[in-house]
Amino acid sequence: MAYRTDALFRDDAYLRTADAVVVAVNDRGGIILDRTIFYATSGGQPGDTGTLERADGSLIAVAATITGETKDDIIHVPPPEQAVPEVGEPVKLALNWQRRHLLMRMHTACHLLTVVCPFLITGASVSEDDSRIDFDIPDAGFTREDVTARLMELVRADHPVLVRLITDEELAANPGLVKSKNVRPPVGTGKIRLVCIGENASIDSQPCGGTHVKSTGEVGEIHIGKIEKKGRENRRFRIRFGPMPPA
Ligand SMILES: [Zn+2]
Repeated sequence: MAYRTDALFRDDAYLRTADAVVVAVNDRGGIILDRTIFYATSGGQPGDTGTLERADGSLIAVAATITGETKDDIIHVPPPEQAVPEVGEPVKLALNWQRRHLLMRMHTACHLLTVVCPFLITGASVSEDDSRIDFDIPDAGFTREDVTARLMELVRADHPVLVRLITDEELAANPGLVKSKNVRPPVGTGKIRLVCIGENASIDSQPCGGTHVKSTGEVGEIHIGKIEKKGRENRRFRIRFGPMPPA
């Protein structure tokens, strides 16, 4: 069966701890809570890791967070051989915040790359030290130096990053908001989460369920590691933290 966990990270990506109650433990040991700060793997962003603290102070590790039947069905996966909590038991959640914050910075950097390279996206993957986006373009004509310079202009401008909810009808009236070639945001729930960059979304807006930093300055220094040719009409851009190393 599918559960509905209150996904606290959608309203506040900066929550590092929270209290919750165990709602269920599935037959593979996955733990379902009434509410969570753990983002579940989706849309190219990996799920969170961290700990659940029991009333006696002992810790249950969370090695991965995944979704079940729906995006609201969030499953905390402990490594093998862990103690299993009881249904109804209160637990204190703590994120591996250092990792999550790197993912928030990287994920936001990916949005900035779609501003600099406004082409249809065929794939994306975020990790804490390297991310990639594949664009449906025959030849970018970009150099990694140019793209890095334009990304860093957006970072230094420290534009706000805000979430706005729109209706299915608003999305249908603005098909240009969707930048993915193959993936469409889920419709039918009445609300679509739009991630906007800049005052009045002047820089960008696109549907996204991930976690982001609150302003582009917090992304910090990034550079394009590589632009690779992946097929005739596909270019893969890699983003890394830090200054661009000398060629
Ligand atoms: Zn996003």
